Amino acid sequence: QQQQERRPHVAVLAFPFSSHAASLLTVIRHLASAAPASTAVFSFFSTHKSNRSLFPIPPQPTTSTITTTTTTTTTTTTTTTTSSSSSSAFNMIKAYDVTDGVPEGYVFHGKPQEDIGLFMRAAPEGFRKAMEAAAVDSGKRITCVVADAFFWFAEEIAAELRVPWVAFWTSGPSSLAAHLYTDLLRNKLHITDGIAGLGDERLNDFIPGAPRGSDEYGCLPWLDNQKPAPASVAYISFGSVTVPPRSELVAIAEALEASGVPFIWSLKEEVWDHGLPDGFLGRTREQGMLVPWAPQVDILSHGAVGAFVTHCGWSSLLEGIAGGVPMICRPFFGDQRLNGRMIGDVLGIGLTVEGGAITKEGLVRSLGMILNGDEGKRMREIVRHLRLQAGKALSPTGSSTGNFNKLLQVITTGAPP
Ligand code: UDP
Repeated sequence: QQQQERRPHVAVLAFPFSSHAASLLTVIRHLASAAPASTAVFSFFSTHKSNRSLFPIPPQPTTSTITTTTTTTTTTTTTTTTSSSSSSAFNMIKAYDVTDGVPEGYVFHGKPQEDIGLFMRAAPEGFRKAMEAAAVDSGKRITCVVADAFFWFAEEIAAELRVPWVAFWTSGPSSLAAHLYTDLLRNKLHITDGIAGLGDERLNDFIPGAPRGSDEYGCLPWLDNQKPAPASVAYISFGSVTVPPRSELVAIAEALEASGVPFIWSLKEEVWDHGLPDGFLGRTREQGMLVPWAPQVDILSHGAVGAFVTHCGWSSLLEGIAGGVPMICRPFFGDQRLNGRMIGDVLGIGLTVEGGAITKEGLVRSLGMILNGDEGKRMREIVRHLRLQAGKALSPTGSSTGNFNKLLQVITTGAPP
C-alpha cells in the first residue's frame, strides 16, 4: 500500500478545443505505455464533451460532483459519476471532467470564441478543484503537472504543489517563438492590438465525428482499389474545426470535377447540402468519396495518395510529412499561416494557394503540378527524405526518442533531465 501511495501521479491538463486535447492524449498514452505499470498513474483533465470524444465508450451514470472515466474499474466513491473500459493503452489513464465554465441557462451570443472565453475564465479554479478530487479519489498526491502551454496558471498550480511543471506545446517551433517573443514583435512592428495570424485561441469546439482513426466509411478499401495508379489521389481536409467559406467549397468541388482527380474529401456533414454545387455528390460517386470524418493518418500513409489539400494545422503537417505527401496549403488562422510558409517556402514540400483563397482554376493547376508535374516529383522526393529523417528521430537511438525518455524521467521521478 505504502508503495502505491508513493507512485507518481501525473496531472494532465488539456485544452478542450480543436485537436489540442487529442494531441496531448496521444503523448500521454505513449508515456503511459512506456512507464512500467507500477510506476505512474495519469489523471487526464478536460471538459465532459472533450473527454467523451477522446474516451468514446459510453459512460455508466452513477452519482455526484465530478466525472471520471477509467479503463479498468467502475469506481463507486461519492466523487465519481461515470467510468468505462477501453484498450490496455489507457490502463493507467483516468479521465476527469472539469467545468466548461458555461453558467447554467447561459444563452450564447454567437461571439467568436465565446466558449473558449468562458472556459478560460473558469479554468484555474476548475482544474484546481478537479485535481484535488482526483488526489482524494486515487489516494495519491499529485507529483507532476503536464499542461497545455495555453494554461499560464499551470505554473502557479505546480508551484503551489511543489512539483515539476511540463508545458505541452501542440504546434511547431516558429509559432512557439512568435508567442515567446510577442512583446518584442509588438515593439518592433509597433503593434498595439495583437498580431495578425498569431492568435492563441482556436475557434469552436472539438467535434469528433467518428472515433479517431476508425474507417467507418470505407476510405481505405476504396484507396486499395486505386493502388494501381500510385500517388494519384487527392486527400482534402481542413482539420477538426475549420470549414472554408461556401465560395471555396464550390471552387474545390468544381476543380475536382474539372480535373477528374480521384479524391477523398473530409468535410463536416452539415455543409454538404448547402455548401456544395447541386448534384456534386451524384456526379462524383465513382470519382471520389465525401466523408464527414476520415482516418487521416492511414490515408496519408497510403501509397495511392499523392496530394494533400490542407489548412496547415500542425498535426496535419506532421502527418503529411509522415505519409510522404506534398501539400496544397490553404491556411486560415492561428499558427496555420506560419506552418503553411514552412511547407511552401522553407521545406519546399507544397504550394500555397494563390491569393490566399482557393479558386477552381488555381486548384486545378496546383493538383496538376503536384500529381503530374516535375515540381510534384521534386516535392515528393524532399518530403520522402523528411519522412526518413523523422523515422531516424523516432528510432531507438534517435533524438525524439531521447527527448521522450527525458520527459518520461521528469514525470516519473520529478528529477530534471
Ligand atoms: N483528422 C482526422 N480525420 C479527419 C480530419 C482530421 O483524423 O477527417 C485529424 C488529423 O489526423 C489531425 C487532427 O484531426 O490529427 C487535426 O489536427 P490539426 O492540428 O491538423 O488541425 P486542427 O484540428 O487543430 O485545426
